[in-house]
Parts: sequence; C-alpha cells; structure tokens
Amino acid sequence: NKQVIFKDYVTGFPKESDMQLTTSTTKLKLPQGSTGVLVKNLYLSSDPWTRAHMTKASSDTPSYIKTFTPGSPMTGFGVAKVLESGDANFKQGDLVWGITGWEEYSLINATESLVKIHNTDVPLSYYTGILGMPGLTAYVGFYEVCSPKKGETVFISAAAGAVGQLVGQFAKLMGCYVVGSAGSKEKVDLLKNKFGFDGAFNYKEEPNLDAALKRYFPEGIDIYFENVGGKMLDAVLPNMKFRGRIGVCGMISQYNLEKPEGVHNLMFLLTRELRMQGFVVFNYYHLYEKFLETVLPDIKKGKITPVEEVVEGLENAPSALIGLFAGRNVGKQAVVVS
Ligand code: NDP
Repeated sequence: NKQVIFKDYVTGFPKESDMQLTTSTTKLKLPQGSTGVLVKNLYLSSDPWTRAHMTKASSDTPSYIKTFTPGSPMTGFGVAKVLESGDANFKQGDLVWGITGWEEYSLINATESLVKIHNTDVPLSYYTGILGMPGLTAYVGFYEVCSPKKGETVFISAAAGAVGQLVGQFAKLMGCYVVGSAGSKEKVDLLKNKFGFDGAFNYKEEPNLDAALKRYFPEGIDIYFENVGGKMLDAVLPNMKFRGRIGVCGMISQYNLEKPEGVHNLMFLLTRELRMQGFVVFNYYHLYEKFLETVLPDIKKGKITPVEEVVEGLENAPSALIGLFAGRNVGKQAVVVS
C-alpha cells in the first residue's frame, strides 16, 4: 500500500518535503466484525483546507479541522471504490466520494465519511470538483449566502479555481454581470473565453487593485465572492454598492502567514450597510441532493463546463497540493491514484 505520510507540523508555506511517499508491505484487510469499509482510492482532491490540518492544533483551531498526526498518512477528499464492506449501507463495487487517505487502499468509517455515487455517466473525477465538496461550496456560497438577483454585479477572486469557476458560471446562468480575478494570463483568458465572464483581470499585474475594480465596476459591486482575503478584500470593500453582500468562502492569501494581514476598510460594512457572511460547506451537506438535481442537468446540457487539472500518480499529490498556494493549478486540481 503506497502512502503519503505527513512528516511534521508546518509553519509558513508548506513544502513537498513536509510529506513523504512510503510503501507499506502489510496488505490491508477489513478486520472481522468491522462496520467500516475497505476502499481502493481512485482520485484524490487537492484542496487548500488540507493546509489547516498541517498546523499544530491550538485553542483557535475550528472543531471541523482535525489536525494530522505526524507519521500518519495524509487524508482528504477523494473518489474510491468499495472492495469489502462491513457497513450495511455500502456494498462491494460501490463508488463513493468523501474523506479518504492519501494512499492506494484505505480502511474507512463509511457512514461518517463517504457519500455513494449514483450518477456515473459523467467523469468520476468530477466528484473531486464540481459534483463534490468544491461544487457544493460554490452552490451554497453563491445561492444561499450571497442572495443573488438577476442583473446584479458579481466579483469573484481566485476565479479560475475549483470553486471560483463554478460560482462565475452559476452567476452567468442567473443573468448577472460577472468579473473575476486570477493570477495568470492563461487563467484570465479561460475566464473570458471559456466560462463567459464579462471581464477578468490578472491581479498580479494590477499596480492598484482599487483602480482595477473601478474599471470593471464603475457603479459598484453587489456581490463579492471572497476566496483570497487580505489586500483584495481591502480593495473590494470601498467598491461595494449599498447593501451589497460578501460571501466569505476562503482567504487563501492568509493561510500560510504566521500573522494575518490587517484589513483597513471595515468601516464600509457600516456606511454601506453591507452584509459579510462566512460559511463552512460541512454545515450544508443536507443540500447535496438538491444541488445535484440543479447541477447535473446543466453539466449534461453543456451549460456548465468544469475545467480540471488531473495529475497522474500518488507520488505527485504533494506537489499538486503545494501548487495550489503558488497558483499552478488551472481549474480543479486532482490526482489519479489508480
Ligand atoms: P483553487 O482551485 O481556487 O486553488 C487555489 C487558488 O488560489 C490558486 O490556484 C491561486 O490562483 C489562488 N491563490 C493562491 N495563493 C494566493 C494568494 N496568496 N493570493 C491570491 N490568490 C491566491 O482552490 P479552491 O477552489 O478549492 O478553493 C478556493 C477558496 O475556497 C480557498 O480559499 C478555500 O480555502 C476556500 N474553500 C472554502 C470552503 C468552505 O467551506 N468555506 C470549502 C472549499 C474551499 P491564482 O492563480 O488566481 O492566484
């Protein structure tokens, strides 16, 4: 069983050397009487939240983040096939997505961690992205948290990533004016030409983010879908319209800083009567079936086109994870295990 082992707690930017590929010769078997399942992992999802598991737990660690144990395999979202089952709700051959190990085979408490896959007429890798956790995040964050209306102006940061690209496509389908920021020309072209955004800019090449936002939103922003935090949030706040909404999905620019940057323009929450609301997708799993009913037909009709970047081999999982923090991924980053 090939595994990626978490070596030790990380401060600052994570490195590939914080993880190590090993091969264990013990063949995994479901213990007699176990109510778990033995799965063969097919895809792993590279997600920014993995970084939170690599930090030593403190009194500030949210309860939904279970920090990794040094010397144990990394865990995260993935797609797998059930090989043996002691759980009455899962049988041999079932395809599942959910929390699994960064390894070829895993023993899992299925009821706690796995969702059965019923629709297999789409690529299975989609369950690491559009049909998995990032898809539900985009859906919940946009429709439930941002309360969008047709014709509104929407700005999305990290717009070419797993979550951002979907929020933009949902917003376009709703008839909004949509602009995204991303970190390369290739990503900006993708936003404009493939996803049909009304505008997009490379935030790394804008000397003044406020001026860039004013260029695309002369009348202001109704909805900001926040993925990055820091300087971008500060630039967005004064550009929000009266009673605009900010859905706080993530703040990736802050995750590797030992001390988070301050935000200076919070006064605009008051003067513009803004609503800024964070959300954590794990509290919205009850909406998963409703989400599938909405999104699957749109995928099949070609109204939504997910872009993903899938690398081959468990040995490439560490570099795929690190790549998220360098912006190397174009679209949803996933890893093929088998
Ligand atoms: P992405 O696929 O968007 O990958 C991360 C991207 O973030 C990179 O490609 C890079 O794109 C951008 N990025 C990295 N570092 C920085 C930085 N310092 N400043 C600005 N941008 C940066 O990841 P996801 O779509 O999976 O996640 C997007 C956000 O959503 C993250 O903040 C994540 O933590 C959050 N999230 C929140 C959830 C929730 O429940 N609230 C659930 C899932 C995700 P670029 O080239 O554009 O810089």
